[in-house]
Amino acid sequence: MSIRFADLAASPLQKLNSAFLEQADIQLYIKRDDLIHPQFGGNKWRKQKYNLIHASEQNFDTLLTFGGAWSNHIYATAAAARHFGFNSIGIIRGEKHTPLNATLSFAESCGMQLHYVSRTEYRKKHEAAFLQDLRQQFGEVYILPEGGSNALALKGCEELVQEINHEIDRPFNVICCASGTGATLAGLVKALNPEQSAIGFSALKGGEFLHDEVRNFLGDDPQTSNWHIETAYHFGGYAKIDNKLINFMRQFQLQYGFALDAVYTGKMFYGLFDLIKNKHFKPGSTIVAVHSGGLQGNKGFGL
Ligand SMILES: *Cc1c(COP(=O)(O)O)cnc(C)c1O
Repeated sequence: MSIRFADLAASPLQKLNSAFLEQADIQLYIKRDDLIHPQFGGNKWRKQKYNLIHASEQNFDTLLTFGGAWSNHIYATAAAARHFGFNSIGIIRGEKHTPLNATLSFAESCGMQLHYVSRTEYRKKHEAAFLQDLRQQFGEVYILPEGGSNALALKGCEELVQEINHEIDRPFNVICCASGTGATLAGLVKALNPEQSAIGFSALKGGEFLHDEVRNFLGDDPQTSNWHIETAYHFGGYAKIDNKLINFMRQFQLQYGFALDAVYTGKMFYGLFDLIKNKHFKPGSTIVAVHSGGLQGNKGFGL
């Protein structure tokens, strides 16, 4: 099996224009990773790319991974597996509910085999013994961790910065992304030069834990301090939403012409606009925000 990426172009970089940004004297660009591919775009694709190349080089024909019932990663893995000719197995947290929700029925329509495990079992997803059991049960499978977050994932996210550097006419000062495991942020940080900085907006309550996660992903790299986590924009926790967030997302779409997802990018843009409003950034700054996709998850909220 060989992986051919020729049909996947770099994602566009789009400048946002509004009176708000003009008054704040901020140049804001959006890296539209949501447009890479209708089904497996976003940061999940960035994280998968080098994993799929590696899996293919090692002659694996089946991918196995983990996720919740509305997981963007399950959705993207199922779609990418079908596109590139892998079999796929999804280990799903919790009980099976029929009819399947939109995410899981899409995954199944891509040929993904779904296996449900209890929440207690699911917590063992990083344990060697549990992974060994899965290999025994399913044979020679290439295991992607939850969210696709591993060392090879960082490499795909580094590429995102390299793409931006080609697309933009001046170096950016700050890059922003939404954070769940911190792998995307770590990949971005690796590709920055020391004058640039990165902000990860935590999609989870208690986002302070992401500092250590990002450090772990960065591993032996010289420890950099040109990044931080914004922990105040979680809206009550992972996948929690309220009217303030939904109204912001509606306004945003009306004004700028594209949709955000409620779990990650809606919260990031809310936070970023709040920071801009509060003059967190030097006037004249150039900021890039990554639209990491995830729009399929909006169905879980009836959006
Ligand atoms: C998974 C996901 C993230 C979080 O990425 P991490 O690498 O886990 O921090 C951000 N945005 C979207 C849309 C996602 O699906």
